[in-house]
Amino acid sequence: MKYFASIVRILFLALFLMLLLNGNVMLWLMLFVISLFAALLFGRIYCGYACPMNTLMLPVEWISKKFKIQTESTPKWLKNGYFSWIALVVSIAVMFLSKRLFHIDLPVLPFWLTVSVIVTLRYRPAVFHNLICPFGALQRTFGRFSRASKSVDHNACIGCKLCEKVCPSDAIKVIDRKNKAVINSMLCHQCTNCQEICPKAAIHYTRIGS
Ligand code: SF4
Ligand code: SF4
Repeated sequence: MKYFASIVRILFLALFLMLLLNGNVMLWLMLFVISLFAALLFGRIYCGYACPMNTLMLPVEWISKKFKIQTESTPKWLKNGYFSWIALVVSIAVMFLSKRLFHIDLPVLPFWLTVSVIVTLRYRPAVFHNLICPFGALQRTFGRFSRASKSVDHNACIGCKLCEKVCPSDAIKVIDRKNKAVINSMLCHQCTNCQEICPKAAIHYTRIGS
């Protein structure tokens, strides 16, 4: 599954670069809009498998850890969670106004791609995913209502917290009171990191509420 996921991510990254180089970024934005509706049914699969920022952040995170650049801290000014929404409004306004007034397409997507790489050199991926990414703000909103998501079988979970350590978006947390892991579908990218590391095979992709 790990290799299959990597291949899918690389294919989407190649598609993104091809559309970018051919000046067809609008097609990618259409794919993004479709992914928001897909998130209502299947969770944030766009973030886990199609997003070029997430795909580039994976090797960058590896480098950051390898060279001990990564810090566990989060900038204080990001913690209130408003930044990603401000980034979304500004990004849409810049795209719209530059096209309307100057008939040019400003490289908004490459800009955020660059930001994602720079931020991940220093901070944990969750900082970009949850607090900075303007596209993530929308994905969180739709992912919150997802009909299916990764979830934890509490009969099997032993609260070892291994899953917490590999989650790119802080979506899984062991609730101390119960000593059981819980997944927040709003933050979950539906990757397979937690599933692969769980020693009790307690994590499954299921319909929410079933
Ligand atoms: S890795 Fe598995 S057993 Fe350990 S806390 Fe996470 S879900 Fe529970
Ligand atoms: S590691 Fe698990 S909880 Fe975290 S994003 Fe991936 S599937 Fe979701």
